[in-house]
Amino acid sequence: MYDIGKAHRGNNLNQGEYMNPSSSQIKVDKTKANLKKCNCMNCPSYSLGCKMKAMPKNMMEMMKSDISDVDHMEAMFCAFGKSTCIGEPKGCVCSDCQLHKEYNLDKMYYCLSEGGQ
Ligand code: SF4
Ligand code: SF4
Repeated sequence: MYDIGKAHRGNNLNQGEYMNPSSSQIKVDKTKANLKKCNCMNCPSYSLGCKMKAMPKNMMEMMKSDISDVDHMEAMFCAFGKSTCIGEPKGCVCSDCQLHKEYNLDKMYYCLSEGGQ
């Protein structure tokens, strides 16, 4: 789960001050449980060609018990950074994703821009 206390500890805030982390500061945890909630596979922007291309590496990483150290996967782009394959915005289904709500994300198209747009 996103640790809101952890996000604040790095902000040098004085006691009693409160600052909402912007969505570009929020890091979605790279966990298999979170990956299962990602809606990107159901998205029109994630072309069949990109899915085919990404499948071998995605499958290989999914076989690991812990994916927190995985640098990049072609999925859960709010955690793993922008896609190396998806290039055209054809609609984004992030707003229907459970993680979008859980982590209070307020952007979309995490596959096209780091931190979303
Ligand atoms: S980030 Fe948005 S546009 Fe990109 S694949 Fe995921 S749901 Fe689709
Ligand atoms: S918010 Fe978007 S990029 Fe992040 S897991 Fe959900 S669908 Fe994927």
